[in-house]
Amino acid sequence: NTQIRIGIAGYGNLGRGVEAAIARNPDMTLVGVFTRRSPESVKPLSARTSVQPITALSDCRDTIDVLILCGGSKDDLPRQGPEMAARFNIVDSFDTHARIPEYFDSVDAPARANGKTALISIGWDPGMFSINRLYGEALLPDGATYTFWGKGLSQGHSDAIRRVPGVKAGVQYTLPSRDAIEQVRSGLRPELTTRQKHTRECYVVLNEGADAAEVERTIVTMPNYFADYDTTVHFISEETLLREHSRMPHGGFVIRSGNTTEAHAQVIEYSLQLESNPEFTASVLVAYARAAYRLNVQGQFGAKTAFDVAPGLLSIKTPAQLRKELL
Ligand code: NDP
Repeated sequence: NTQIRIGIAGYGNLGRGVEAAIARNPDMTLVGVFTRRSPESVKPLSARTSVQPITALSDCRDTIDVLILCGGSKDDLPRQGPEMAARFNIVDSFDTHARIPEYFDSVDAPARANGKTALISIGWDPGMFSINRLYGEALLPDGATYTFWGKGLSQGHSDAIRRVPGVKAGVQYTLPSRDAIEQVRSGLRPELTTRQKHTRECYVVLNEGADAAEVERTIVTMPNYFADYDTTVHFISEETLLREHSRMPHGGFVIRSGNTTEAHAQVIEYSLQLESNPEFTASVLVAYARAAYRLNVQGQFGAKTAFDVAPGLLSIKTPAQLRKELL
């Protein structure tokens, strides 16, 4: 059995989660963590994990089978995705939904030109939730799909807040509306606006001298992230942030409510309850790294999303084992 050799590009929450997930997948070996910061300043979970500058990746073309990109969606991946897809098979968790088609194209061309496989927008949303939305629509064409998130801390949105000038630190929680959930579960197929389904709550620590009103305005009007929601911004101290907002829980559910005949309503529900969003997301990325490796061996090059990957490719088990044990 050959080991799949994995590299981690970028070491934040997701990078740490990938390091932990690889330790639970016996067919994978971690080559190392590659960071833009000075390697000495980055402390991996395991003392055995090697940390190197990201420039060292130029010597790793033959020693890494799949590079898992763990940078932020807003500023890191749009640059790193296309660049790395020309040199490695990659998996990433790009989650700016509105930009996925253009990001796909920007990664597809370099991956194809260099015989690499790039699985983009992997995780739980986009990712596992996307797959369940697709199943719902395909199986119940006469119906409606609903996705609810939270209460949870959204990494993508927290990342976006932290990049606003004047912001020192911050987190963002997404809260689902209980009323809306109950209506959907009852099979009523309500029409809900974005604003009716969720609200967003931000807890922000300002840099010294920053203009709170300006920071608040920049956050609540940010397109794709906050502009379509009722968003509340709370300014808090760094101590409060550390004490009360250090955990990263999340979850939510995808519901398809549909009819097969006038008489019969059918409801499909997929739900996640996550104590750690980044650790779960990282576990998904690692399973898809296995698929990326296998697809590349099969000669399937270019960018792909979770929709393009057959489920069996995610499993450590052989197709024969899967037929025997799980069908
Ligand atoms: P982080 O902010 O923790 O890390 C992002 C990058 O920032 C790292 O790769 C790292 O790069 C750099 N970094 C990390 N810590 C520091 C630090 N102390 N100082 C300076 N730079 C640092 O983001 P997350 O890991 O939490 O999330 C990454 C992305 O994952 C999110 O933007 C989101 O888009 C996506 N995501 C997707 C999900 C999905 O379901 N599809 C779910 C959850 C997240 P380097 O080491 O090179 O400096």
